Amino acid sequence: MKKIREETVPYNTGWAADLQKGQVLRITATTTVDFVCFRRENLKERFDQARTKVYNMKIFITTGDKLMGRNNQHMMTIIENTNREGTHDLQKGMCSGYRFQLAKQEGKLRAYYHRDYKEDEIPDHGCYENLSRALAAYGIAPEDIPNPFNLNQHMKIDGATGRMEHTTVRAKPGDYVELRAEMNLLVALSACPDMPVGGKPVDIMIYEP
Ligand SMILES: [Zn+2]
Repeated sequence: MKKIREETVPYNTGWAADLQKGQVLRITATTTVDFVCFRRENLKERFDQARTKVYNMKIFITTGDKLMGRNNQHMMTIIENTNREGTHDLQKGMCSGYRFQLAKQEGKLRAYYHRDYKEDEIPDHGCYENLSRALAAYGIAPEDIPNPFNLNQHMKIDGATGRMEHTTVRAKPGDYVELRAEMNLLVALSACPDMPVGGKPVDIMIYEP
C-alpha cells in the first residue's frame, strides 16, 4: 500500500480532506469519532444515517458494510474494523457546546453521563463546532452537515423498548476502522470530547491499496 497522508487530529478539534475513489481512510482511535462524507463533485450529496441503516438492515455496521448517501449511493465501504469490544453508532447526532449546557441546565448530566461534572470539566464546544469549522473552508454551512457515523460510540439499545443508554465501552489502543471511498469524496471528522469517558486525539492515515 502507498501511504499518502498521515496526521493526528488533536482532542476536541475537527479535520477534513479530499479522498479519491479507491483510496482508504484509516481512523485509529479509542475515543468517539464523528465522521461524515460528501460527494466531492456535488457537496449536496452527503452521508445519510437512515439510508445506511436500512441498506445494511442493521443499526450497528462493521466490516463489509456500506455507508450510503441520501440518494442511496454507495459512498464508502468498511473494509476493516478491529474494534471487537464495542459497536459504532448510527443513532446519535453531534455533541455541541449548547448540548452540554442544555444538559447542565436541565440537570441531566448525571443521567446522560453517569457522574457529576465540575463547571470546568464541561466542554464549551463539541463535534458540531469542530465539524462546522473544518467544513467552512469548503463552503458547507453547519446546517448542511449530516448526522454522523459515530465510530467507537458504543450505545446500549433495548431491542424491545428502543431505550438507549450511553456506555463507557470504547475501542482499545491501536484499534482502527478502514473506510474505502467508492466515489470521490470530501471526508470530515471530529475527535469528540466524548463524555463520559473523556476524549483523546485521533490518528488518521490515507493510503492507496
Ligand atoms: Zn462529540
